[in-house]
Amino acid sequence: MLKHTIQNLKQITERYQTPFYLYDEARMLDNAQKLNAAFTWNNDFKEYFAVKANPNPYILKLLKNQGFGMDCSSLPELLLAEKCGLAGEDIMFSSNNTPIEEFAKAIELGAIINLDDINHIDFLKQHLSLPELICFRYNPGNQRTGSTIIGYPEEAKFGFTRDQLFAGYRLAKDYGIKRFGIHAMIASNELEPSYFIETAEMLFKLVKEISTDIGIKFEFVNIGGGIGIPYRPDEQAVDLNVISEGIKNSYKSHIEANNQAPLKLYMECGRMITGPYGYLVTKVRHIKQTYKNFAGLDACMANLMRPGIYPNAYHHITVLGKEDLVHDILYDVTGSLCENNDKFAIDRKLPQLDIGDIVIIHDVGAHGHTMGFNYNGKLRSAELLLRKNGEIVEIRRAETIDDHFATLDFDGLARFI
Ligand SMILES: *Cc1c(COP(=O)(O)O)cnc(C)c1O
Repeated sequence: MLKHTIQNLKQITERYQTPFYLYDEARMLDNAQKLNAAFTWNNDFKEYFAVKANPNPYILKLLKNQGFGMDCSSLPELLLAEKCGLAGEDIMFSSNNTPIEEFAKAIELGAIINLDDINHIDFLKQHLSLPELICFRYNPGNQRTGSTIIGYPEEAKFGFTRDQLFAGYRLAKDYGIKRFGIHAMIASNELEPSYFIETAEMLFKLVKEISTDIGIKFEFVNIGGGIGIPYRPDEQAVDLNVISEGIKNSYKSHIEANNQAPLKLYMECGRMITGPYGYLVTKVRHIKQTYKNFAGLDACMANLMRPGIYPNAYHHITVLGKEDLVHDILYDVTGSLCENNDKFAIDRKLPQLDIGDIVIIHDVGAHGHTMGFNYNGKLRSAELLLRKNGEIVEIRRAETIDDHFATLDFDGLARFI
């Protein structure tokens, strides 16, 4: 089954060497607008795009133009947001185990500081200064179930316990902080809409309890990211309107009815924003037959790590020009690492493959190129953007061997005995 059609791909592969990532601007922005449109009932709804999902500044700038903020968790991510023209409360800093210089940069930018640990309140007070607005990440422990990627909340390294949350807001209030938010991020690649409604409801109830108990007023609730995408052909995209309706009803009964309105609703999705709109375009390099059929591509796990590290990760694969042929041959689709989990697909039914066929790996626009690595001396590929007007822009060139060796001193090596 052909999941998406990509026109002119053959011509693009004649101009740019495979493998490369290709992003589809028109479809990405259409989806971003749908997300904003789904939540217009909340006046200050804002999506903070999780930069780690796709840290290409060209992509970030497109999303910024849709009114998105950025969710950062490292110094380079903060610098990328800054380069894209973001500052202040358009940046959410949701880090963990955070070095002091990263807090310093986030505070300098005026970002919203979302603390992962109650000890970091005093850590900031001692080493830097306390921000004017503070947010804490809640980990509900055994109150909620997690998902396979992120694990069970009580096993996860993230966030405050419930008791720490109350103690943390009390301490922050005692230290003179007046503006507050609350955050949770407990699911990943979740396709069930009710999960997000429950997370919002859990936070709405906490807003009421904590503000009554401590006497503070909350400005926002950040329900995190984690909305899944239909990687498999038989899966359905999450209906954003269903999530929105559910959260709106819960907002009415827990926030409006308890005099907690207005309260801003924030999200920090990564995967559902860019995931479906990125493709890894590769060619078949070798066909090998032993106990199985292997199709060896010119891309490898260093270009796309997900299938290698997540046991159930599925990426749909199509073969350019062979979409309508019978898919009746079982292949393991592999890379060239000396590592047996370097496989994009195992026992996948595909049409008969030939050397030189253009193979498209789907849904790699999030947590794709960004997870790339250099094991076995493999180089990361270029990233291309298919613009709305059909133009192709190279938004990141491919790595070269010189890039790869840039941290080594070969003159020193020559003198080294
Ligand atoms: C990774 C991450 C996100 C984005 O997750 P997606 O599954 O890509 O939506 C959001 N917030 C935090 C704190 C994260 O670590």
